[in-house]
Amino acid sequence: MTDTAPLPHALPSSRTGSGIHASAHPAADAYAARWIPDKVRYDGGWVAHGVDHADPVAISGTILAPSAPIDPDAAWAAFVSRDRAYDGRFVVTVSSTRIYCRPSCAARRPRREHVGFLADGAAARAAGYRACRRCLPDDVTRDATAVRRALTLLDDDEGSLSLAALAASVGYAPHHFQRLFTRATGLSPAAYARDRRAARAAAALRAERNVTAAIYAAGYAAPSRFYADAAALGMTPAAWASGGAGERVAWCEVPTPLGALLVALTGRGLCLVSLDEGVEALAALLPAATLVEADAGERSRMLRWVGAAAVPLDAALPETQRRALFLAAVRAAARADA
Ligand SMILES: [Zn+2]
Repeated sequence: MTDTAPLPHALPSSRTGSGIHASAHPAADAYAARWIPDKVRYDGGWVAHGVDHADPVAISGTILAPSAPIDPDAAWAAFVSRDRAYDGRFVVTVSSTRIYCRPSCAARRPRREHVGFLADGAAARAAGYRACRRCLPDDVTRDATAVRRALTLLDDDEGSLSLAALAASVGYAPHHFQRLFTRATGLSPAAYARDRRAARAAAALRAERNVTAAIYAAGYAAPSRFYADAAALGMTPAAWASGGAGERVAWCEVPTPLGALLVALTGRGLCLVSLDEGVEALAALLPAATLVEADAGERSRMLRWVGAAAVPLDAALPETQRRALFLAAVRAAARADA
């Protein structure tokens, strides 16, 4: 999946006693807190539509809350590996130089006895440290604000916003912002924009129940663009508009840190992924389709898509953006798996 940044590794969140606490300022936690799907444990308690299955599977991810204590060993490991996923989660102080850095700073690593970990730049400055001029640790907050603004711009965009225009409107150079955004969200700006367009196409079909009407309602100049955006429906736009006539749709529910996730597929791939909607919503959306509970093979396929989606738990991101990013990541994983 080329659109997805490498998955960061989770810091243990259960240690207490030693270790400091991550920032109390939500903005300083940008990039940091993610539910890490490759750390997911499958340990029973699968619930689908209120029914316990005979072959229980459940997902229980580790949520790195903003207040989670930071384990010094894990923080040191993140510092040594220059893991960008921890930028903004804590700062590294170096007693020999009186400088503080972000964990990913490119500078040479000092000896461990000279290194400490503090919640944020404010704490470091209060302790008498100066910000590193190489990694600019205080710019992490600025980066996070830019990513949030870009998400809002892309949510409102009708498909005309270029990367250059997007980056310029939040005050960054295009290539740099592309990397910044991808690191923070798990999706490139282009992939997120494509997902927003697909969601608009699906919503138009849902509202209009007619392909031609949906194309005009959603403001498409050319039907070909609409068909491209509607490719993620798991069926033709006409079949979708008809309520799924003739389609077999297999579904399951997956508990996630962001809520219960409804996933449905057809023979052509993913057709719906939705948070906090049950199978009744699927039945209302596709009243003419044949809905069946997913079999073991289908379920493991859908769980693979969910597991490949990094869930952005950046505490500074509005809930709606976190949910939209998660759903977009699942759809991207399904596309890559097709
Ligand atoms: Zn530095």
